[in-house]
Amino acid sequence: MAKLISGVKISSDIKNEIKEEVKELIRVKGIRPGLGVILVGEDPASRVYVANKEKGCAEVGFLSETARMPADATEEQVLKQINLYQKREDIHGLLVQLPLPSHINKDKILHAISPDKDVDGFHPVNIGKLVAQQEGFVPATPAGVIEMMKREEIKIKGKNATMVGHSEIVGKPCALLLLNEWATVTVCHIETRDLKYHTRNADILVVAVGKPKLISGDMVKEGAVVIDIGINRITADKADEKLLEWRKDDFDKKGATLVGDVDFQEVEPRASAITPVPGGVGPMTIAMLLKNTLQSAKRFADIR
Ligand code: NAD
Repeated sequence: MAKLISGVKISSDIKNEIKEEVKELIRVKGIRPGLGVILVGEDPASRVYVANKEKGCAEVGFLSETARMPADATEEQVLKQINLYQKREDIHGLLVQLPLPSHINKDKILHAISPDKDVDGFHPVNIGKLVAQQEGFVPATPAGVIEMMKREEIKIKGKNATMVGHSEIVGKPCALLLLNEWATVTVCHIETRDLKYHTRNADILVVAVGKPKLISGDMVKEGAVVIDIGINRITADKADEKLLEWRKDDFDKKGATLVGDVDFQEVEPRASAITPVPGGVGPMTIAMLLKNTLQSAKRFADIR
C-alpha cells in the first residue's frame, strides 16, 4: 500500500503558517498582503478558480479584490486594469485568470504585469529567474509539487524523475524545479515515443496531461513516488463500471467525479507514495499562490 500524500492536510498547514505571518506583518509593519485578480468573461471553471482564490485570501487574512470584466472587454481595458492594480500599494500580487477570450493577446497581457507583482510566475523575467535559480515567483502548481515532496521528506536529489507534460505553466516549470533539486529529469510530451519506457524508469513520476488513465499500473516502477497533477471531470455516462462503483457517492450526488491522469486503483499498489485526485496537488495550488503573495508583501515591507 502506498502512502497517500494529502494536499488537503499540507495546504491547510501552509495556510495556518501564512495566517500567523500575516498577523505578525500587520502588527510589526502595518501591512496586510493584498491580491488583485482580473477575470475576463464568464468561463465557469475560471469563476470557480477565482472564487477559490478569494476564499483562500479570506482564510489567511489577505485583502483580495477581483475586477470582473465582460467577455467583450478590449485588450486596452484589461491593460488599464492591470495598471490600476500595479500602482496600488495595498495590492502586492496580481494575476489575470486564464484562459482569456481569443481576441485578447495572452502574452501581451502577461508581459504587462510587473515581475515584482507577478505571483503566478508567468512573466518571462520570473521564468528566467527560475532557470537561473534566482529569487523570483515560481508558478504555484509546480511549486506545490515540490513543497509536498519536501514536507513528506521524499528525497529528490539523485533520483530519476520523469515529468509527463511540458506546458509552459505546469510541466516545464515542474521539470526545472526537479532539476534545481538535483533530480535527473526526463520530460515527456505528446510526441514522446514509448512513454512507458520513460515512466518505468522513474523513481519520481509527475504527470500533468489531462487524460484519464494515461498512466496504468504496468507503466510505473515498483516503489515509485507518483504525483498526479491532472484534473479530469468524468460524468456518469462516460464512466466505466469500476469508476461508477468506486465513486458511487459522487455520481449519486453530482452526476460526475474528478480523476487524475493516473489510474489510481492500478498504480497505488505499486507506488511507495501517491497523491489522490481530488485532494492531492489541487489544494496546494492556492496555498502556494498565497505564499507567493505573502512573499511579495514581505519584500514590499523589506522583510526577507
Ligand atoms: P496542457 O494541455 O497545456 O498540456 C498538456 C501536456 O500534455 C502537453 O505538454 C502535451 O504535450 C502533453 N501530452 C498530451 N498528450 C500526451 C500523451 N498522450 N503522452 C504524453 N504527453 C502528452 O495542460 P496543462 O495546463 O499543463 O494541464 C495539465 C493537466 O493538469 C490538466 O488536467 C489540468 O487540468 C491539470 N492542472 C491541474 C492544476 C492543479 O491545481 N492541480 C493546475 C494546472 C493544471
